[in-house]
Amino acid sequence: MNEVLLLTAAQMQAGLRRGEYSSQELTRACLEQIERLEDRLHAFITLAPEMALEQARRADELLTAWRRQGGELPPLLGIPLAVKDVLAVRGLPCTAGSRILEGFVPPYNATAVERVLQAGAVVLGKTNTDEFAMGSSTENSAFGVTHNPWNLERVPGGSSGGSAAAVAGRMAPFALGTDTGGSVRQPAAFCGLTGLKPTYGRISRYGLFAYASSLDTVGVLAHTAEDAALLYGVMQGEDVRDATSLRAPVEAVDLSAPPDFERLRLGVVKEYRQHDIQPEIAAALEKVVRQFQEMGATVQEVSLPSTRHAVPVYYLIAPAEASANLARYDGIRYGPRQPADTLPDLYRRTRGRLFGREVKRRIMLGTFALSAGYQEAYYGKAQRVRQMMQQDFARAFEQVDVLLAPVAPTTAFPIGAHRGDPLSMYLEDIFTLPANLTGVPAISFPAGFDQSGLPVGLQLLGGPRQEALLLQLVHAFQQVTAWHNRTPPLVLEE
Ligand code: GLN
Repeated sequence: MNEVLLLTAAQMQAGLRRGEYSSQELTRACLEQIERLEDRLHAFITLAPEMALEQARRADELLTAWRRQGGELPPLLGIPLAVKDVLAVRGLPCTAGSRILEGFVPPYNATAVERVLQAGAVVLGKTNTDEFAMGSSTENSAFGVTHNPWNLERVPGGSSGGSAAAVAGRMAPFALGTDTGGSVRQPAAFCGLTGLKPTYGRISRYGLFAYASSLDTVGVLAHTAEDAALLYGVMQGEDVRDATSLRAPVEAVDLSAPPDFERLRLGVVKEYRQHDIQPEIAAALEKVVRQFQEMGATVQEVSLPSTRHAVPVYYLIAPAEASANLARYDGIRYGPRQPADTLPDLYRRTRGRLFGREVKRRIMLGTFALSAGYQEAYYGKAQRVRQMMQQDFARAFEQVDVLLAPVAPTTAFPIGAHRGDPLSMYLEDIFTLPANLTGVPAISFPAGFDQSGLPVGLQLLGGPRQEALLLQLVHAFQQVTAWHNRTPPLVLEE
């Protein structure tokens, strides 16, 4: 493997500017790494080598001109990146992991994609995802399962499992993902990465193929908080194309100023501590609590009594919104069509044949929860409990600045472990769903390894728009720990 792939994106940025390598060399190194490992990992749905090399060539021209004339360079200039296949990239197929979109090529860029391209990044391709981002393992993709670089028999997590495997497999220094109920943080935890889910509305959803609109968030998978800040920094901010995008001013993330640990109040959630979690994760949590304490933070236990409602509330609201969002895939507007004599038959056949099982299950659940006579009993009630959760969180963030929590009850589970038992898979999401239901930002970061050598991830949650604080804290943690620097043996082998 080319050693340059072991660098972080921030280091690549510096190396490109110093002229140690060109963007084309970097991009080729990534493409070679993809070629070497893709058979085993299956991180990508679509590769875009020609487009990437063309973007890299233009980046190199700008770099050459800059060396002669100086001036400002776009922050991501020449750095390769992978994009989850639920975000539109103009000219590349976008499948959302579904047969129902096969062959569909969006004629526009998602705002998040547009902004990273404006910042000079090089798009390598589109990564595998659970169909319409519905899942926690990337086993629900119509295009096959993605494997965890730390252990090929394990899932990489999901639904941004392709992005996580690509970054952990050093095929790309960082990647875009989306997080509706944990899909950035959980795969980041399973693959030993840093994963940021910003505040709802902080990054535009324009061009993100909607799953559950009130929960969907664009996020970042990277090795370090520094790289996550770099990528988040260019994507954040208001977008007139997304009515839910936050009007609040953009905040620069300054990592050079260390956070004031003496004044930091760290909360540990009582109800999470009582939950059944893998012993190594519980141990890592206690250890990190002590580390933060040693750095000066005050630690206190807080209670989020609504925790036990997170799974049922999310699995009513998300499918309800999904059932409305996915109505547009009807065989008329996008993708392939199954022939039929009547219009209802055409819909039925197209949707029946081209949607996968999990998607159909959720459309049925969601349609039922929204149907006349039941809407108040299910969807309405779930929304009221969601408000209770928001109040719980608001109270918690009056007492503390950040919450420390597990990301998932276990490390990466074996492929097939939850096959045929969707409920057991849903229960895996208990610790990630609350941030989406309440809209607050959260960041997962590497905090150890379990006995079988799989990464352990933890997360910090902050109040609304506290991304900068979360990134600063994880950055400070990563200055004194080395968990984020480990590389899967598969990547290093010759
Ligand atoms: N695992 C959750 C689900 O299946 C969350 C997925 C996501 O964040 N996209 O809905």
